[in-house]
Amino acid sequence: STFIVVFIITSGLICKIGQGNPWSTILPSELLEPNLVTKIRVDTQATNLASTDFGNLTRSLPAAVLYPSSVKDIATLIQASYSASLPFPIAAKGHGHSIHGQALALDGVVIEMSSLKGGDKSRINVSTNPIPYYYADVGGEQLWIDVLQATLQHGLTPVSWTDYLRLTVGGTLSNAGISGQAFRHGPQISNVYELDVVTGKGEIVTCSQQVNQELFYGVLGGLGQFGIITRARIALGEAPKRVRWLRLLYIDFLHFIRDQEYLISIKGEDSDGPTKGFDYVEGSLITDESLLKNWRSSFFSTKDHGRISALAAQHGTIYCLEVSKYYSHFSVDQDVDSLLNGLSFPPGYVFENDVSYTDFLERVHHGEQKLRTKGLWDVPHPWLNLFIPKSRILDFDRGVFKGLLKRNASMGPILIYPMNKYKWDERTSAVTPNEEVFYTVGLLQSATDGWEYLEDQNREILNFCNEAGIRFKQYLPHYSTNSEWKKHFGRKWNMFVERKVKFDPKRILSPGQRIFTPLA
Ligand code: FAD
Repeated sequence: STFIVVFIITSGLICKIGQGNPWSTILPSELLEPNLVTKIRVDTQATNLASTDFGNLTRSLPAAVLYPSSVKDIATLIQASYSASLPFPIAAKGHGHSIHGQALALDGVVIEMSSLKGGDKSRINVSTNPIPYYYADVGGEQLWIDVLQATLQHGLTPVSWTDYLRLTVGGTLSNAGISGQAFRHGPQISNVYELDVVTGKGEIVTCSQQVNQELFYGVLGGLGQFGIITRARIALGEAPKRVRWLRLLYIDFLHFIRDQEYLISIKGEDSDGPTKGFDYVEGSLITDESLLKNWRSSFFSTKDHGRISALAAQHGTIYCLEVSKYYSHFSVDQDVDSLLNGLSFPPGYVFENDVSYTDFLERVHHGEQKLRTKGLWDVPHPWLNLFIPKSRILDFDRGVFKGLLKRNASMGPILIYPMNKYKWDERTSAVTPNEEVFYTVGLLQSATDGWEYLEDQNREILNFCNEAGIRFKQYLPHYSTNSEWKKHFGRKWNMFVERKVKFDPKRILSPGQRIFTPLA
């Protein structure tokens, strides 16, 4: 493949790259440094690998794949597209864990970000000086699990997480990055001090709250539209050693959400002691069938399964509140007991585990390993993630959990947990409902026998929300028309478009999001 590209590039001023369908992408050869040529592959093995994602629902064949070994390689490629008479689309691919082809580039170039790790310089550097604050400088291509391991060596840790850590820093910061810690610390995009970004013009820019602010806020939650994150300075705190991890079962949705809302309202930290309240608050829906099928079920012992199944069978749908308390030296028994005292789950339905901090954060990966052995990981994933305003979550429960979903029992986990809007920075590109508290609802479905009916169901859920006037926002959004995107961004739409014009005027970056029509 190197031969093909070199041949093409040396054979004329204008050349075509790749073997897309058809060969439609035109690149001025003088802009490709010989150095870069050796890092581009156009063979079908490379392009096929970059043509799908975790969702397994769509396929978009790129013309070529770039395996950069430096940030400059990325800048050079983007400059080449930017200066071409017909710019070609470029997508950074983090770990390809999107659902609807967001990291793909039909007939364009996919940048395999992971190959930045290959250099001899470490791309995770931890600052252990607490003044002004602990932080880690990490490459946008890094997986969060590697960030965790590197920071733990210094007794430090990022404070805001995703449930699953085999995702890249650049990928989650392009969305928001949420988990049960977000109610306290905000999403991951609220815990970044500084970024290095290669813009859609191929310029390498350092930005922060103070410098090049517009680019900084644009890129956070920006769905890859304004630049490629090559370094992020992530906020760190002191790492706990252990986690008391509990699940409480509810048969009544109202009690379940009241308790969740109460727990996320507990504010602040003691000046010289552990945090008040739980450190992590999530929740999920359990049906008799989902209990046995999804990766979260391993928390419960086999003995408990019978009891929980009976409860689920009796009530149809039950809810599971999941909480954690971090600790290092002192017992948390008393704190946990007093927090549980304020809650209203039925007596006897509390289940406890005590695990290392790493095992807690790696919980979904443990599930992944199990699913992989059964061949159930690389299946289609027609996921739907929504943010629902607190004032309408009861309607959503009635219409969706107790309504539409009743017809389909087979599913992956269904997550439900609230977050505090004030922990989200309005200046970022991320959008949330217009209420102080909103819920994230994640229908994380795996399809083993056809996925179309699950996509239909997702559409029904969206229709239900629209008809009921529930002003939801999609998380990890997937839309195809301009008017849907306009509605999604609401009053941020004009700013989003202005930022696009400023930082990626030729609409080169992340075409798989399908927000802007490519110029090419
Ligand atoms: P990709 O899918 O490769 O890319 C996503 C988008 O970002 C694309 O548009 C891409 O072009 C762009 N992009 C990638 N890298 C960069 C970069 N360096 N700079 C700029 N743009 C870039 N999300 C949560 O918030 N919380 C969760 O708990 C959570 N759990 C998950 C569990 C699983 C099993 C999976 C598969 C996903 C989960 N996600 C979760 C979703 C995840 O945040 C998104 O898939 C996200 O896109 C990160 O995946 P990625 O790193 O593979 O990025």
